[in-house]
Amino acid sequence: MKKTVFVLLDACQYESATRNLGYLEHMIDAGSAAKYKVKGELPSLSRPMYATLMTGLPASSHGILCNEIVKTLTCDSLFSLCQAQGGVTAAAAYHWMSELYNVSPFAVPRDRIRHGQGGHIDHGIFYWEDMYPDSHVFSDGEYLRKTYDADFTLIHSMSIDYMGHQHGCDSSEYELAVSNAGCLISRFVPGWLEDGCNVVVTADHGMNRFGIHGGTDAIQRNTPLYIFSDKVKNGRFTDREISQLWVAPLVARLMEIEPSKAMLDPKQIPIAFV
Ligand SMILES: [Zn+2]
Repeated sequence: MKKTVFVLLDACQYESATRNLGYLEHMIDAGSAAKYKVKGELPSLSRPMYATLMTGLPASSHGILCNEIVKTLTCDSLFSLCQAQGGVTAAAAYHWMSELYNVSPFAVPRDRIRHGQGGHIDHGIFYWEDMYPDSHVFSDGEYLRKTYDADFTLIHSMSIDYMGHQHGCDSSEYELAVSNAGCLISRFVPGWLEDGCNVVVTADHGMNRFGIHGGTDAIQRNTPLYIFSDKVKNGRFTDREISQLWVAPLVARLMEIEPSKAMLDPKQIPIAFV
């Protein structure tokens, strides 16, 4: 199994990522990573897409149709597959991830920090305030990855989403939040690559100028996908959109784990492999 870090920048639009994630764009220019444009699934809401990104299933299949549906998934996800195949899973993430993959509803004293207490995230540090600093999320995730030698580590930041809801996507606040996340990524990726990890950076959905997402236009649903992996051909492959349903089987393939039977066939993934 190949270790993997999955960075989920909540609500990071494709266009804003392209404008502001200078380090990642540099790595594409330098031929050291791959970039794709993802056409997000619908509804372009957080909890449904947290489920879609990890399970590879559309909302109508996994059943998380809006943010208000609070339940723990019973279908396979990257977490459950990694765990079942002998891997260690970790997440520094918003508490909805704990609800989807460990236990629901979230109870702060019980679920804020979890280690091997059941569920598919073995080691978790979960936050519940949307303004929890991205710097802390990345540090929480790195702590878990290193301390527990995690095979699959999810790092899920919320500042971009928070600023988008407060000020809309055309605001300096939203753009700065994306830029700041890019700086944080640049501080961690070299170490992850040195440790032999795949690195995947993407988002659950975008944001519009009214501070809304959930709908169908490109700014609400298109997200970036940056990949560092020796299995993927490096370069900018953004001339066509790939479906968000491909993200989970792609990660399974990069990790060298068996995908779930319900995922799209990893042999058909429309990505240039080495
Ligand atoms: Zn979100």
